[in-house]
Amino acid sequence: MRLQVLQVFLLNREQALSSHQLETGLPDADRITLYRTLRTFEQKGIIHQALDGTPNQKYALCSGACSEHQHLDQHAHFHCSVCGKTICLDEVNQLLHQMPAGFIVHSSHLILRGSCPDCTFRVV
Ligand SMILES: [Zn+2]
Ligand SMILES: [Zn+2]
Ligand SMILES: [Zn+2]
Repeated sequence: MRLQVLQVFLLNREQALSSHQLETGLPDADRITLYRTLRTFEQKGIIHQALDGTPNQKYALCSGACSEHQHLDQHAHFHCSVCGKTICLDEVNQLLHQMPAGFIVHSSHLILRGSCPDCTFRVV
């Protein structure tokens, strides 16, 4: 089960997945086991919650920097209002390293909304 869930994440590396998408990707999975697996993965520093301002809870793979003890996903989440995809933007964490003196960021939920490259460059 854990392996299967991980595989779905790896196949969709570039975007965050809602629990609904995961259920669809794993038709045999039992809901309760799926949620338990997600919670375990989050605790182990494998995935993180990608808040995108929608009511759907989404999860994305962590970068290698995360561990069981600390999540270091201080990046922005980009929510495409055209296709609904949520993407981790590691490039946009620079802001957090330019905080005025004395401000230490422990957590952040930076949500950007707009159009993702797929939608921006889509041939109409
Ligand atoms: Zn993380
Ligand atoms: Zn899009
Ligand atoms: Zn993320």
